[in-house]
Amino acid sequence: MTRDEVAALDAADPLAGRRERFDLPDGVIYLDGNSLGALPRATPGHVERVVRAEWGKGLIRSWNTAGWIDLPQRVGDKIGRLVGAAPGQVVVADSTSVNLFKALAAAMRMRPERRVVLSERGNFPTDLYIVQGLADFADVELRMVERDGILPAIDGHTAVVMLTHVDYRAGAMHDMAAVTRAAQDAGALMLWDLAHSAGALPVDLDGCGADLAVGCGYKYLNGGPGAPAFLYVAARHHAAFRQPLTGWMGHAAPFAFGTAYEPAPGIRRALCGTPAVLALAALEAGVDELLAVDMAEVRRKSLGLTRLFRDLLARECAGFGLTPVGPEDPERCGSQVSVAHPQGYAAMQALIARGVIGDFRAPDIMRFGFAPLYLRYADVRDAVRILKDILTTRAWDRPEFHRRAAVT
Ligand SMILES: *Cc1c(COP(=O)(O)O)cnc(C)c1O
Repeated sequence: MTRDEVAALDAADPLAGRRERFDLPDGVIYLDGNSLGALPRATPGHVERVVRAEWGKGLIRSWNTAGWIDLPQRVGDKIGRLVGAAPGQVVVADSTSVNLFKALAAAMRMRPERRVVLSERGNFPTDLYIVQGLADFADVELRMVERDGILPAIDGHTAVVMLTHVDYRAGAMHDMAAVTRAAQDAGALMLWDLAHSAGALPVDLDGCGADLAVGCGYKYLNGGPGAPAFLYVAARHHAAFRQPLTGWMGHAAPFAFGTAYEPAPGIRRALCGTPAVLALAALEAGVDELLAVDMAEVRRKSLGLTRLFRDLLARECAGFGLTPVGPEDPERCGSQVSVAHPQGYAAMQALIARGVIGDFRAPDIMRFGFAPLYLRYADVRDAVRILKDILTTRAWDRPEFHRRAAVT
């Protein structure tokens, strides 16, 4: 691909104008929006307004006058529009890990005659750890199977099938409708983790009949480091949904200050404590960037970017020991491309030193995320060119690139 051919792709890109809405440093090609989304230019101003006007001037009154108390639901409904959830089924609160705990505990209670949480051995560790933690306190058994063994493993003992829609390591995407149907046909509940889906591609939770879902605010939703997460509970389950973190914000009447817990009638019962207002403000600004575009368009561009990256890698970087990871068909993947390399960690550090920021997942995976709102086709070409240079010159083989940092 010549520079001109790639420039033509950017010139024809209907999302090209979105890039300038993000504050990206010069000289950086950011291929890690799947781990920490970039900063929208609107965010600092919005957060500053919330801090100075709503907090500084409004003080405690802002819980009512600025609508702080409704933020978990208001931002939840906005995220709902991105993941195919009608209003009133999504709240923003806590972290994905905590929301998994709430959702799993509630699901076990909704299937009292069953005790198995079925998941995938390669699932993101926190998802598996949360089940293990729950199993320490309740009659719950975690059953882990390989990816191609999931459907046959769903049986009359399965209370809930818990899967991450897009695999964090390989990028492989489950068929949400088919797996949900299989789980429900066996009488189980379906819990989806949308960490690598929300804001990256169209998701249709209601359309697929999903029961429960969780997801992150700081990845493709651009909510900032440690942004609160979201939790979806299908409306038909609200009455039966009882979660164990029964804090006052999930109470039917928090300001009645009664002594007995009584859950709020709708999705608000999924809340626990006081909302993180400043973090919610930042997340809302990030989510608004996605609501301004068509998710089908986002997916089209994501496929264009990942296809180009795969093609250029195959053409330019053959013979350097890179092994593609995950399905060959980009349609069966999320918005990322992963390749294994025996020196993957060092090669990624060398790339980062040259301004191409991806990340590394043990044991040997170099992971590249493609956030369609702020990446250009030219970035993809440049990233591959720099990677090829690093592999050709063995620039990764320097002591500082082999030293492991705490966060990889
Ligand atoms: C990123 C990620 C998480 C993170 O959970 P936190 O509680 O926000 O740390 C959970 N699950 C999956 C699948 C992820 O990719």
